[in-house]
Amino acid sequence: MAEPDGRTLGDEEVAAAERVIRSGMLSSVWGTEARALEGEVAAMYGVRHAISCSSGTAALHLAVVAAAPDPGDEIITTPITDFGTVAPILAQNAVPVFADVDPADGNLDPEAVERLIGPRTKAITAVHLFGAPAKAGALRELADEHGLTLVEDCAQAWLTELPGGGYAGTAGHVGTLSLQQWKHITCGDGGLTITDDDAMARAMRLFADKGWDRAAGRSHAGLGLNYRMTELQAAVARAQLAKLPGVVASRRGTAVQLVEALKGLDGVRLPRPDGHAWWLFPLVLPGGGAPGVAAELRQAGIPARAGYLNEPLNRAPIWDGPIYGRSRYPLTGPMAACPQAERMVAETLLVIDWNEHYTAEHVEAVVTVLYQALTPPPSAR
Ligand SMILES: *Cc1c(COP(=O)(O)O)cnc(C)c1O
Repeated sequence: MAEPDGRTLGDEEVAAAERVIRSGMLSSVWGTEARALEGEVAAMYGVRHAISCSSGTAALHLAVVAAAPDPGDEIITTPITDFGTVAPILAQNAVPVFADVDPADGNLDPEAVERLIGPRTKAITAVHLFGAPAKAGALRELADEHGLTLVEDCAQAWLTELPGGGYAGTAGHVGTLSLQQWKHITCGDGGLTITDDDAMARAMRLFADKGWDRAAGRSHAGLGLNYRMTELQAAVARAQLAKLPGVVASRRGTAVQLVEALKGLDGVRLPRPDGHAWWLFPLVLPGGGAPGVAAELRQAGIPARAGYLNEPLNRAPIWDGPIYGRSRYPLTGPMAACPQAERMVAETLLVIDWNEHYTAEHVEAVVTVLYQALTPPPSAR
């Protein structure tokens, strides 16, 4: 059976790393690899700008910078995501506001988002959870209607396709990507933002390089950190990018087999395969019981987890105490409830690890355990 955490790393990545080391230039300020990676990602996504940086979290920080909230402005986002979606909002002294999700797939519910839009709202950050397309079209309409920036966190959604055509990351003003160890493709850590907006691109590029406009000498016009990607990361990422279409196609092939095989099973809500990039394989058990089924899968040697998080981020322990020194300014009050997200994480969401090396044999093994776990014994019928 395939290694569940299998990565597609080989001679191409070794050659890329060697090429950089032998060149003697490891910094992207003077090297060629990061700029080449940016060109290749921009071409793949059909956008004007791609900006490389040190992680997916850094990319999300750049996206918040592009949205330019004043301190205390609000950014609406989802409680079912990696904390990297939320930390950059706090870093810019903006306030995360969690909207509830669609219980079918755990992605933001546009109606829940709309109810939370107020005078301080500056942006919406949507996440294409597990690689399933979020309702980016509806969220873009909301953003345009209210003058907000729409950020799409595509860390789990490389080459996810949107219903109207185009890749996830191109419906909003800024899309963000991650190259962390366990994403579709990796260079250990790394990130990119994509955008068609020239001014946002410039703001993000400056912030990633200490606010230093290198064309203007040694002068600092704005706030920035050092979020530069190294040449080593970029060269490995370029080798990985060349493999990305094959990686996603292979994940789609086996995931669709699993969806087909589970169609006869009662008590599960299957993911919609349309456009899905299958970072993980999520299932919803509307009647609950996901922790037990996850345990049965693990007992059979199939890596799987219930809920994805210990608790949705609106219930994370960080909100119980100070965030900056002894203060939580500008945050006030407790985080609002998100009942759908809370029920998903506690009871109904089951995620099965997935990767491009999975085979029909692996699909079969998952099917066997799920039918056993979810078909009631004769006595219970
Ligand atoms: C991984 C991830 C991030 C953070 O990316 P890093 O590269 O780990 O910093 C942000 N959002 C989502 C949805 C992720 O899965």
